[in-house]
Amino acid sequence: MSVLTRDEAQTRAQILDVERYTIALDLTTGEETFDSATAIRFTARTAGDTFVEVQPATLRSISLDGQPLDPALLDGNRYLLPGLTAGPHELRVDAAMHYSRTGEGMHRFTDPTDGETYLYTQLFMDDIQRVFAAFDQPDLKSVFAIDVTAPEGWTVLGNGVAEHTGQGRWTIAPTPLISTYLVAIAAGPWHSITTEHAGLPFGIHCRRSLAPYLDADADEILDITRACYDRYHEKFDEPYPFDSYDQAFVPEFNAGAMENPGLVTFRDEFVYRSAVTDTERQTRAMVIAHEMAHMWFGDLVTLAWWDDIWLNESFAEYMGYQTLTEATRFTDTWVDFGVARKGWGYDADQRPSTHPVAPDPDAVPDTASALLNFDGISYAKGASALRQLVAWLGEKDFLAGINAHFARHKFANATLADFIDNLASATDRDVHAWAGQWLRTTGIDTLTAETGTPAPTEPSGPPANGNGQSWALTVTRDGSRPHRITVGAYDHALGTQARPGRLALRDRFEIDVPGDGTPTIRPGRRPALVVLNDGDLTYAKIRLDTASWDTVLTSLSGIPDALTRAVLWNTARDMVRDGDLAPATYLATARTHLPYETDLALVQGVLSFAAGQVVDRCTIPEDLPAARATLTDLCRDLIRRTEDGSQPGLRLIAVRHFIDAATQPDTLRSWLDEGTVHGGPELDPELRWRILTRLAVLGATDEAAIATELAADPSATGREGAARCRAALPTPEAKAAAWDALFTDDTLSNYLFTATAQGFWQPGQEDVTGDYVSRFYPDAIALAARRGPAIAEAAGRYAFPAYAVDPESLGTGLRALEDPDLTPALRRKLVDQLDDLRRALAVRTSATG
Ligand SMILES: [Zn+2]
Repeated sequence: MSVLTRDEAQTRAQILDVERYTIALDLTTGEETFDSATAIRFTARTAGDTFVEVQPATLRSISLDGQPLDPALLDGNRYLLPGLTAGPHELRVDAAMHYSRTGEGMHRFTDPTDGETYLYTQLFMDDIQRVFAAFDQPDLKSVFAIDVTAPEGWTVLGNGVAEHTGQGRWTIAPTPLISTYLVAIAAGPWHSITTEHAGLPFGIHCRRSLAPYLDADADEILDITRACYDRYHEKFDEPYPFDSYDQAFVPEFNAGAMENPGLVTFRDEFVYRSAVTDTERQTRAMVIAHEMAHMWFGDLVTLAWWDDIWLNESFAEYMGYQTLTEATRFTDTWVDFGVARKGWGYDADQRPSTHPVAPDPDAVPDTASALLNFDGISYAKGASALRQLVAWLGEKDFLAGINAHFARHKFANATLADFIDNLASATDRDVHAWAGQWLRTTGIDTLTAETGTPAPTEPSGPPANGNGQSWALTVTRDGSRPHRITVGAYDHALGTQARPGRLALRDRFEIDVPGDGTPTIRPGRRPALVVLNDGDLTYAKIRLDTASWDTVLTSLSGIPDALTRAVLWNTARDMVRDGDLAPATYLATARTHLPYETDLALVQGVLSFAAGQVVDRCTIPEDLPAARATLTDLCRDLIRRTEDGSQPGLRLIAVRHFIDAATQPDTLRSWLDEGTVHGGPELDPELRWRILTRLAVLGATDEAAIATELAADPSATGREGAARCRAALPTPEAKAAAWDALFTDDTLSNYLFTATAQGFWQPGQEDVTGDYVSRFYPDAIALAARRGPAIAEAAGRYAFPAYAVDPESLGTGLRALEDPDLTPALRRKLVDQLDDLRRALAVRTSATG
């Protein structure tokens, strides 16, 4: 299939104005295909050639202005329309289209719990042509009027309000002008909860088998929805632009969610069947806030071409976290951003595949390259840059600029240049220069602190204290960006016998980096700890002075502010990745401080990095038993400390990580047999499958036990749990069957593919997986070419041999990058995975020294 290039899109946008799509979809024609009839009214501004995209199973007929055209002339996914005359036209396309099993196009899912079938579309970024014929590019906005025929008893949801006109026929209210990638339909016997807010219909929807779980959380979800809606109306002058707000939790969704106007789709893991932590609830709330921000930024005003995707995502990411903090009970969201998202940005920005937040348009020549930019740079780094921008401009001017942007470009398209011009119109500051330094460059600056005693010749700073003491701070910058940062100075507090040392904030002050070259002189003796970027308002790596770092190692959990601790845990994290901090020291620091950590997002973030990266990838084999023992001791300690039931979230995190790290089956088996962790929690499906997966990894269960568990939980997640367990069993037969399912069979849905891949590679199973390291590359390259970007992404992420940390594995991977058949989606994933592998190998090498 041809991917659309930017040049083609620009040419087509010069020729065409698209007025209206009138679409009829019939979803009652069988399990493999559905019928799709489209009439597109458009105007050619000048005479010329153009084309329409469609990927049918069968193209039954096509006509232009009533004249039939030859369906056989379809060329791949394009039908050429040569020699168009200037003036109005109508193109009609009648086709049968394939349902999808990969979450792209019209996804079809049958719930194993009750046999009910659900359909939904995911048309981003160029998958509309899998559902109906379209001039598919974001700057050809149009009205979309859709009629759907669905089985009786189903509900149909669309961008506009859907009306049932009888006998399974539904008419969806025509949209205002929106981009093709934002059209959405969801159809099935949904369980729905509807209400009204600010005169607008609101609805939340999920599969029937999840109904009790959605009901249990409906108030929470709708309260957050209302609170964000109201808050956005305080910030934005433009009212919500669409006629309704539905949020559908849909099965086997690839992303977290998608911002279709009036019909946001979410992965239905956000409808919790099992216990979750408050941090996970906060994440769901953040996604709700993020998608709603897109109604303005993305849907009302849309990028003209995909080089500006960061404008959509960075804005929604920043607004999501900020609005949640302002409008809901989740008042501490920036800690989670710091620990869960920023590392994603920092990692992406240090890889060979890094790119500017706002890439040069020439760097995004087509849709395939645009798809690669949905990464930690476009989301986390971009949001960090916007946060720094708000700190620098002030929120009032920032919002004034945003509102000017909405007013000028509503129901149309805009570029980075428009955005910057609109911001500049609201401030005296040089936003264009800021954009050049922050958005057009790559990489992370490193800010390094040195503290000392001021030289006698130092020009006088603030007066020294009564003792005549003062201290000096010098910050050096490796990089190119200007930063305004807060520096925190901390002293040891008194009375700290029973736990690691407590620190007290002495003061915070702001400095500009780079400054004028002179040290900052502060009164008093040198603090025990000096933290750069305290408050986390900039995006940079930091390195502390030696004395401060020693204080961190002894007193990290004694720092009063969670956001400060997040900055320091992130520093420890990238020091491990840079080979500046021994893996064992990171683990020892976690062992010392996590028992006293009160912020759940921090506990979760640190334990995940400790388990998944430090132990499983960065630790040399000789040190592995000690590293694993540290991790399980820590989890056991957390479990013991939470026996009184007062911290269920912390206990749940500890139980999950204990299960994942266990090296002996006995405790896990007794929990599974008794149906509970001693002292709670009782095992829910998530914990039962987690335990069984670990027992499978340890070779302490078998197919019969997996089948019994699946019979007890025959849900979609149960089916994924069973697939994960089977792939994790340490036998040659189990690995061969899993590999065949992943790479030969081609029938696994996106979610079952992921579950199987997650089970396959396990540290410690090298004797049964070793041969698959070299097989991975040719098999994945062929698979990606056959099954498309979503499966390619899943293969690159989950089926990659991440634990084979040795030079041979790295060399095999690097050679595979030269394969001419490598698709862009898989190539990008492999480049990133191999860079992580190279880093892990470097850390191990420096440890052996
Ligand atoms: Zn988004």
